Amino acid sequence: MKRKVDWSKYFTFGTEKNEEFRKAFGAKKIFGMGIMPIRGPKGFRKLDYEFAEKYLNVNKIMDKLEDTHFNVLGVVIKDTDGACIWNTKVGWNPTGRDILGEFCDAGKDRNIKINVSFTSMNDAYQGYLHPERVSVHGRDGKKFGKEYKKGDVSTHLEGEMRIDLPENLSFEDYQKKIPFLTDKRDEKKGKARDTRGKGFIPLTSFMCPNSDHVNYLLELTKEVVKNYPIESFFADYIRYDGSFTDLCACHRCVEKFRANYSNKAKLLKSKEWYEFKSSTIANYAKRLHQTIKSVNSACFSGWFCLPGPKKMFSQKRLGQDWTKLSSILDIASPMEYPYLMGTRDDGWYWGKVGGFFYWYFIRNMKKRAYEFKSPALTVTNSVECNIHEMLKQIRGFDFGLGIAVFKYFGTSEKQWEALKEYAEKEIGLENLKFNKKKL
Ligand SMILES: [Zn+2]
Repeated sequence: MKRKVDWSKYFTFGTEKNEEFRKAFGAKKIFGMGIMPIRGPKGFRKLDYEFAEKYLNVNKIMDKLEDTHFNVLGVVIKDTDGACIWNTKVGWNPTGRDILGEFCDAGKDRNIKINVSFTSMNDAYQGYLHPERVSVHGRDGKKFGKEYKKGDVSTHLEGEMRIDLPENLSFEDYQKKIPFLTDKRDEKKGKARDTRGKGFIPLTSFMCPNSDHVNYLLELTKEVVKNYPIESFFADYIRYDGSFTDLCACHRCVEKFRANYSNKAKLLKSKEWYEFKSSTIANYAKRLHQTIKSVNSACFSGWFCLPGPKKMFSQKRLGQDWTKLSSILDIASPMEYPYLMGTRDDGWYWGKVGGFFYWYFIRNMKKRAYEFKSPALTVTNSVECNIHEMLKQIRGFDFGLGIAVFKYFGTSEKQWEALKEYAEKEIGLENLKFNKKKL
């Protein structure tokens, strides 16, 4: 076996911060499992409110986590559809259930801490409710074979999730519940990452980060941090839509850009524009962090980032400046899913694709680790890959604090066994237990 990467050489923020984090957290290593309650009982290609409403068994899930020695559960409390699965007065909860509350209660009984993941700019329901807050295209273009024009809002067919109609419900009736559902269907299942879903295709929207959507997000944040005993609050999709290079060209963004940068600075394609995008995202991060801390100063703030080239991808497309964001929020979470790009289980070629991305993601992180000014906790996948691939990435991407795995449903029994063995033999149970007094 190849030797593990010594990540402490690459992260330059000072390892004492890892130590501080461990102390505050109360365990030496984080071993986290993620759950997306509205994506059904199998993988993550479905949007399934019926399942969340009627069949999601919180205690069974928590028993399984306890048995496998997980000390953290990451709950996706707001997914890209926009559903808010807690007792909310502000948001939209189509499950009619306080799923977050149930997990918090069950976590207390078992000494499993609850982290929440909160999808920020991607929000299909808000896109339907507030088209005026959706980000706007600055150029004509095409996506999934469909043309859009400059000035159109960026609401498109969803790439990842598909929907099956519940029994005894017509399409029209279901569309009343899910207003962003279309009558288009995806019948074939492919092997590439974005072709694996089957069923009715919903719409998806990336909201404008300079619109009132941000105030809506902060209201939701306040509600969650105030009412639930969560350990940390992570912003996901704290960025622009990576599929496009011409967002957001709405009147708000254009006016704000013009007011803050020289008249000569070009819209959509200039150093100043990219700077504008990343400060827009950093502003949201600041307000989010302040909101979290103003309600509960002990709650950690966090954010997710995607591996890739710094300039071309993170800064220009996503508007994510890792240095800025990790200077604001307490902890960064790189999403390292190389074997979602391809798994050996789908044949030799797809094994090579996954292997390539593993190599690339490790190299990318070695190059970019210096950008982080805070501790980083990787989330990697246990679904849609085999045991060998799963363990390889769990070992490879532990930057010192531990590892989080994505996700509960879709992880096979064999993989659960492997995760348990990993916790016992490679992390050590003494490192996973929470010290009640904190370390
Ligand atoms: Zn805008």
